[in-house]
Amino acid sequence: MAEQQQITVQIEGMTCDGCAGHVRKALAGVDGVDEVRLPTWQAGKAEVLASDTVVDEALIGAVERAGYRALVREKRPVSGERKIPERAGADYDLMIIGGGSAAFAAAIKAAELGAKAVIVEEGTIGGTCVNIGCVPSKTLIKAAEICYHAAYSTFEGMTACPPPSDWQRVIKQKDELVSALRQGKYVDVAAAYPTISILKGHAELAGGRRLAVGDQSYHPGKIIIATGSRLWAPPIPGLAEAGFLDSTDTLSLPELPESLIVIGAGAIGLELAQLFGRFGVKVTILEAGPRIAPLEEPEIGDALCGYLAEEKIDALCNARIERVSRAGNGYVVEVSADGKKHTFEAAKLLVATGRHPHTTGFGLDRAGVQLGEREEIIVDQHLQTTNPDIFAAGDCIGNPMYVYVAAYAGGLAAENALTEAGRIYDLLPLPRVTFTDPQIASVGLTEAQAKANGKTVKTATLPLTEVPHAIAARNTKGLIKLVAEEESGKLLGAHILAAEAGEVIQEATLAIRFGLRVQDLVETFHPYLTMAEGLKLAALTFQKDVKHLSCCAA
Ligand SMILES: Cc1cc2nc3c(=O)[nH]c(=O)nc-3n(C[C@H](O)[C@H](O)[C@H](O)COP(=O)(O)OP(=O)(O)OC[C@H]3O[C@@H](n4cnc5c(N)ncnc54)[C@H](O)[C@@H]3O)c2cc1C
Repeated sequence: MAEQQQITVQIEGMTCDGCAGHVRKALAGVDGVDEVRLPTWQAGKAEVLASDTVVDEALIGAVERAGYRALVREKRPVSGERKIPERAGADYDLMIIGGGSAAFAAAIKAAELGAKAVIVEEGTIGGTCVNIGCVPSKTLIKAAEICYHAAYSTFEGMTACPPPSDWQRVIKQKDELVSALRQGKYVDVAAAYPTISILKGHAELAGGRRLAVGDQSYHPGKIIIATGSRLWAPPIPGLAEAGFLDSTDTLSLPELPESLIVIGAGAIGLELAQLFGRFGVKVTILEAGPRIAPLEEPEIGDALCGYLAEEKIDALCNARIERVSRAGNGYVVEVSADGKKHTFEAAKLLVATGRHPHTTGFGLDRAGVQLGEREEIIVDQHLQTTNPDIFAAGDCIGNPMYVYVAAYAGGLAAENALTEAGRIYDLLPLPRVTFTDPQIASVGLTEAQAKANGKTVKTATLPLTEVPHAIAARNTKGLIKLVAEEESGKLLGAHILAAEAGEVIQEATLAIRFGLRVQDLVETFHPYLTMAEGLKLAALTFQKDVKHLSCCAA
């Protein structure tokens, strides 16, 4: 009996979606071909599901007769093995509401389990991370950082380049990168799995495990909600009437404003404040808490505040915003802080006060899915909601909102939903990075959190002026703070402010995950002149003053 195979056919000569349509038709006309996936001409390849009786020449000939060139790149047998129970009357094994990172991880896990899954996306496929979040923000941040360091390097004899001024060009490159990654990492990936499909439209839960997309009804075996989050703006008098920018707007501004007020000094607020500051915009940050980066160790927030001030980015903390209003084409923000009144004016206003789960407008109540206090979907440790047939993953279940958490949750939710594997959603220890320059990277407990948990702790703080890599790079901005259990010496938390903090934190993450002591870090070789060596030196700071050590003589 003929088996099914999946064939990847590279296509050359396509220049528009009309071409893609011709190739699709040509391939679908070959005897034994069951399905052809060629989402857009830019994909440059078609995924063909066909009987194993179909030979390469038949596919290549069909494409050539349509006026294009073809090459068979890969052939894989489609395993008929299903690792999940059949659910009577189900049109799909799994329907996923949302087409971001959590949804894709869920769909791929479903496909690996032999299940038929469909992603329903009402907006742009790929969701927040690739379109309006991690990818666009980090590429713009990197552009600003490279030019800033070239211009203000403390190395003598370097040719200084001015801060980047061609915003439109940088934005264009960003848009090209976003669309290439969306295609390569989402559209093409989905197309490569014959059992994953994508539906465009708004999904509405209709009760039980029924779901509607437009006027079409579905009755899948299980449902995963992966609807993400959206900006949350505080109820500041005048704010809604005045209007404001959110992170999405700022990442695509057609031109740079002269000045910008940023409300909120969490990760997104700080990253964007520094980005625009480095593009020459006069930036003022207003933060309600006592310091910027309020979730981090106080030493880190204070030091970063100083570095931003050196770049002429001002921050006012303990800021209570009394009113926002418009003045001409700009904004006026009235603030009281520490008993004093301040008035700030700027051409644009960015609100970066956090994101709330997107959990309204698609019938959660009809399906018996309950929400928590911050509008997050309540899930148990298996990511099952209060409706046993519905699971949830990603930003819609609340903090922490990171793409790597969303992707992990999506895969786990799919496995639990389809196989009742009972896998437990476990986020400890979870590293996080704020992509300022220097970066903030943290894992585990802060000193205050450890004490609040009843632990007796010791801490060590090392300024980067003691780290050879930082000295040689002539960039000693930053510090490393370690928190350890007093008696056992077990590492409980690591908090790093350094140019490469996001890379170094991984070692501390492993150390905490596997219960290592600070002494284990001291006794492990760290190559000289790496930033990771700073972690070892910080661990050594528990025992001695590293100022009195010779280079690499730890
Ligand atoms: C500016 C910014 C920078 C960030 N930087 C980082 C970073 O550097 N590192 C990091 O780890 N994280 C970062 N994040 C966070 C990260 O992007 C998110 O945590 C992650 O993308 C969430 O993925 P998700 O799948 O849960 O939701 P999303 O990717 O938001 O996907 C949800 C999708 O559901 C769709 N949808 C909603 N309702 C319906 C419906 N009823 N029917 C059909 N479709 C629906 C939406 O259109 C959306 O596309 C950043 C976020 C922002 C905003």
